[in-house]
Amino acid sequence: MECTDPRCPVHGGLKYRGMQFTGKVVSDKAKRTVIVEVDYARYVYKYERSLRKRSRIPAHSPECMGVKTNDLVNIAETRRLSKTKSFVVTGVANKEK
Ligand SMILES: [Zn+2]
Repeated sequence: MECTDPRCPVHGGLKYRGMQFTGKVVSDKAKRTVIVEVDYARYVYKYERSLRKRSRIPAHSPECMGVKTNDLVNIAETRRLSKTKSFVVTGVANKEK
């Protein structure tokens, strides 16, 4: 399939820099947008334990990636693409069957 998305990091001219995460896709309802849930641990010094946290990041998903819900994807920070999107999917880490 030919990719004509100018906001594709592989076929288009979109550059990314800054933060990079790996997370699970929890929603692919929107066109060319996925919601990625990222788990991380934050250490709380008062209790000397870490706290598990998660955040949901909207990311641009070019159609050539074929990203679906439950996929594990790599996302990277890029320029602001819309009101809420400033991340782009850079690859699928593993495909769940
Ligand atoms: Zn592409």
